[in-house]
Parts: sequence; C-alpha cells; structure tokens
Amino acid sequence: MFETALQWLDALRGKAVSAREAVEAAYARIGTCEPRVHAFLSLQNTQALADADAIDAQRAAGMPLGRLAGLPVAIKDNLCDKGIECRCASRVLEGYIPPYHATVVAKLRAAGAIIIGRTNLDEFAMGSSTENSGYQVTCNPWDIERIPGGSSGGSAAAVASREVPAAFGSDTGGSIRQPAALCGVTGLKPTYGRVSRNGLVAYGSSLDQIGPLTLDVRDAALMLSVIAGHDPGDSTSAEVPVADYAAALHASVAGMKIGVPREYFVSGIDPQVAQAVRAALASFEKAGAEIIEISLPHTEYAIPTYYIVATAEASSNLARYDGIHYGRRAPVAKDLWDVYTKSRREGFGDEVIRRVLLGTYVLSSGYYDAYYLKALKVRTLITRDFDTAFERVDVIATPTSPTAAFKTGEKADDPLQMYLSDIFTVSVNLAGIPGMSIPCGFTDTGLPIGLQLLARPFGEPALIRAGSAYQQATDFHTRRPAQNGIAG
Ligand code: GLN
Repeated sequence: MFETALQWLDALRGKAVSAREAVEAAYARIGTCEPRVHAFLSLQNTQALADADAIDAQRAAGMPLGRLAGLPVAIKDNLCDKGIECRCASRVLEGYIPPYHATVVAKLRAAGAIIIGRTNLDEFAMGSSTENSGYQVTCNPWDIERIPGGSSGGSAAAVASREVPAAFGSDTGGSIRQPAALCGVTGLKPTYGRVSRNGLVAYGSSLDQIGPLTLDVRDAALMLSVIAGHDPGDSTSAEVPVADYAAALHASVAGMKIGVPREYFVSGIDPQVAQAVRAALASFEKAGAEIIEISLPHTEYAIPTYYIVATAEASSNLARYDGIHYGRRAPVAKDLWDVYTKSRREGFGDEVIRRVLLGTYVLSSGYYDAYYLKALKVRTLITRDFDTAFERVDVIATPTSPTAAFKTGEKADDPLQMYLSDIFTVSVNLAGIPGMSIPCGFTDTGLPIGLQLLARPFGEPALIRAGSAYQQATDFHTRRPAQNGIAG
C-alpha cells in the first residue's frame, strides 16, 4: 500500500482511495501493531471517521480542500485538541478536556488532516525512553524488548510501524530527534519560535518546540510548511516569514559546508553509531559537500545546564496541577492543603516529582545564583558556540544519540544514565536552533542509527536540503522493521 504522506495524498487526490479508506487502513494497521507496540494512549475512531466522511463529501462536491485533506495523522498526548481528553500521559490530568485547539492542531485540521489518535510519551515529556508514561510502556517496533526513545516515543513508534504516515511530537531537549533516531524515522525540531506553542502543555517554555515525525524529509518539509508561522496566541512565536521548504528538497549539497564538532565523537559513543555517522559524512563529501572540523567548546556543560533550566521551568509550569484547576483531584482529603499535596503525590510519577524538586531547589533564594543564574550564563556560552560555528559552516552534522535503542528497564532506575543519553540533543534547545534526525544506518543487530543535522536559526531549508539530498542517495529511511520487531 502507500507509506509516506505524499504517497497517501497523491492517492487521495487521484481518488484511488477515499479519506474514509485511508483512516480505516490506519486503524487496521493499528489493530495489527498495537498489541505489541503500544504507541497510542487513545484512539478517536468515531470522530476521525466522521471527519473523513466530511472530507470525502467536500471532495465529491468539488470544494477546495486543504493540503493534507484526508491524511490520517497522530498527535502526542500533550497537544490540546478541543473536546478530547489530554493527559500528557499523566494520572494528574486524567479527565482533563481542553476547551480549545492547540494552534498546530487547528492548522492541521484546517489543512484537512484527520487526527486518529493520541500517542504515548514520558509523563509531561520528561524522559528519553517513554518508560515514564503513567499508563503504558511503548515498544520499539524494531525490537519490542527495547525502548522507542522519548519523550515522543509513541509518535516515533507509530510512524516506524506504519500505523500513520505522520505524527507530531514536542522537543524540549531531544524528544523528537532522539526517538526518531531510535525508531529509524525522520524527526524535525524547528527553530524556537518557528511553530506556535499555544496549546502545547508546557514543560520547559524556553525550550519546547512542536515538530513532525515522518518517514522521510519530503514529508517533514510538507508538515513543517503546514504548522509553521507566527501566531498571536504565542508571544514567543517569531514574526519571520515561513520559507518555501519544498523548494529546498531538490537542491544539491554541492558546495555546502558541513561542520563536524570534535566534541561529539567522544568516549561513551557506541562505535557502530560513530561509524554510521562517519559513513554519512563520506557520502555528503562524495556529493560535493565540504566537511569541516569545528569545535563547540562548551558541549561538556550542556547536560547540567539543560537539566537546571528545564527543571526550573518545569517546576514553575507544573505548579498549576493542584487538583483544583485541571484533571484529577484526590478523592479523600481533609483540607485544601491536603487536596494539593495528595492530588500531586497521587497524580505525578517519580520522574516528575524528582524534577519538580530539583527545579524548585535551583530556583530557591539561597541557590538561585549558584545554579539557575549560572546555568543561564552557560546557556549563552553554548549559544555563542553555535553562532561562531555557523560563521564557517551551513550545517552541523552529529550523531543524534550516543547509542541505538537500549533495553526496556536498562536505565529506568538510573536517572543520570538516562540524562546522559540526551548529550547530543539538549544544546540545540538551549541555543534555540533547528535540528533534524534522519536514519543513517543500522547496528549489526538491526537497530536504527540517526544522523543529526543542525542549522542556524530559521535555517530549516538548509536541513531539508541536506537531509533530502542524503535520502535521495541512500535507502535507510525506506527500510521497515521486521525480524525481532513488527513484521510486514
Ligand atoms: N530527555 C529530555 C528530558 O527528559 C528531553 C525531553 C524532551 O525533549 N521533552 O528532559
């Protein structure tokens, strides 16, 4: 059948399939894969089929249709969709029904996309494996004993197992790119401010961005063009015109300068990952790009800086879940204070509690200067590292993750080990620049490896240009999970 979003859209436009058939095909595939993958927290069959019938009726009547008309997509369970329960995979938000659409969701719906379900994540997007979900553990479609990455692990697994041609996630420190890498799909984190965060449940507000997970760069370019743009509903969204992303798909990389940071090939990185990334660099060179060694000297401070900034912002953002305003309230409590503490204690998982404690600590008066303020200063240095590098190169190439997918449970009891798996992704959010992960190989046990491409602010066209040229020369992105994972 069809796989990519563009293939589905061609078929829909040419009336080879109806929107209803596309949605039914997605649910059929979900029926096959979900018992093993567990990518979805909820499905919305009735509404999706009604939406599909509406699109089909419009098409039959010859009415103008949006660019994604009839395309089934999935969204991460931290994006508000009016009238549909949004839990961020947290027990604390059980029963919370948003009264409005996230801007991204409104744009997808206006373009005719059909939202068929909500994908699993680490609770409130805090994690790198999707094991921190309050509801279920998602499995990597390439090997169901392994994690899909996180926090957008549900979205990545749904695309990798071909349950949907496209899914949306959020990326605060790698949550689109890292699961994309571990599941062998394409994941794009736009520049901070490129896509509205309105209606994305906040984790780290100065870091969060929404982006697509797709089977290839062509689909990523299409999805970004639908969701990008200034939004008066998000004061941090940028008033920068949206580039023509499709135009970047066909440019060659000849003459492009690709920087490779020496700090990113350090000990701890799996040799097979390093080798696959080196091979990708060689293929860029063969296509006429120039490979230049660069330095990002503050890289070693990225993890501590990120985990101070992100937890500080999280502790403030999550203060609103008090059992009164949203979602679940502790059923038995003796007074107001008891309602707050019990609702939070019962509703939040351990990782969320750990981060609220850490964030509150680094913001408290005695420690603010020593930790939070210091982290902000280092954040500036990290941003300057990228500014300096981008004076010499158009794109930076790195591994997305130091290892391929690890076993479920392997790092679950060791938060520091888990945090270290974000080593190549978090600086990008601290600097606010765009990043994309694309498949660039497999380990000898058949697990996908991701190549991360970075560009200067609003340099998404450069990512798309490089990524698309690479995918025209390679076929890693077309391979499907089989063997130990989901066959067929
Ligand atoms: N793994 C990182 C964290 O736990 C990033 C998560 C994200 O990007 N949402 O914070």
